[in-house]
Amino acid sequence: MPSGTGKTISLLSLIVAYQRAFPLDVTKLIYCSRTVPEIEKVVEELRKLMEFYAKETGEVNNFLALSLSSRKNLCIHPEVSSLRFGKEVDGKCHSLTASYIRAQRHTNPNLPVCRFYEEFDAVGRQVPLPAGIYNLDDLKDFGRRKGWCPYYLARYAILHANIVVYSYHYLLDPKIADLVSKELAKKSVVVFDEAHNIDNVCIDSMSVNITRRTLDRCQNNVDTLQNTIHKIKETDAAKLREEYRRLVEGLKEANVARETDIYLANPVLPDEILQGLPVHTTVIYLLVRRFFQAAVFVLMQMDFTKTPNLVTLL
Ligand code: SF4
Repeated sequence: MPSGTGKTISLLSLIVAYQRAFPLDVTKLIYCSRTVPEIEKVVEELRKLMEFYAKETGEVNNFLALSLSSRKNLCIHPEVSSLRFGKEVDGKCHSLTASYIRAQRHTNPNLPVCRFYEEFDAVGRQVPLPAGIYNLDDLKDFGRRKGWCPYYLARYAILHANIVVYSYHYLLDPKIADLVSKELAKKSVVVFDEAHNIDNVCIDSMSVNITRRTLDRCQNNVDTLQNTIHKIKETDAAKLREEYRRLVEGLKEANVARETDIYLANPVLPDEILQGLPVHTTVIYLLVRRFFQAAVFVLMQMDFTKTPNLVTLL
């Protein structure tokens, strides 16, 4: 059908009516579209549909419907959101929120932090997103009011939402689908809008574009890695050498100490040691030694303790 003939609203009316009639059979509608403007358009059609229901039936709408997009479209961090490319936003966000970075913050509180993520992590999962229709701006407004990151809030909220509108990639690209859509209910109706784009999206998601710049950067990274390994090896070798030197020194000292112990055990103290002692200690030592020599002499004269052990001891 050509554009503007009401394909989207027809599909939404049909599926939402079925969802309302058989809530246990269809727990979720996953509506996949291609671009952000298309996603936003679907959400606006949904808003009109819900307003129509409210007007016609007078029932309060308790459906939760929201769109999900990349960090680039949902980030509210003043610096990160101003970055130009999606990959830069993803990278910067990751450097603020990765679990190993947050763990390092326990020892280094000066590491930068995203307060929106921290706030969401602390309380955001305990309070469900109130029923309503949320486009990307609505999510950002809600995130600003609460101080929560809208991206992580949306990723969490799609688990219990009745309707999710997002890009094909979240379901078709295995790298993203495993992270975002793994937990989605089995009893979901999935719509691929403009389905003739599916093959291109599949090809895209499994392809890698390699440019000369990419290769140059790879080469630089490999060089840096090689240098780092080299440095680590050198540092470790130096450490090992130092350890060995200290061991040898230690053994030498222990040997000297042992020899000194033996030396000191000798009753005849060498001059250099005696010179190191205070004068009164030396005098007392010499007097005591003289006394024992005299005692040995007397005992030997008395001729009843000629034991070599006693003589050596004295
Ligand atoms: S956690 Fe959210 S608000 Fe913070 S940098 Fe990442 S995307 Fe932006």
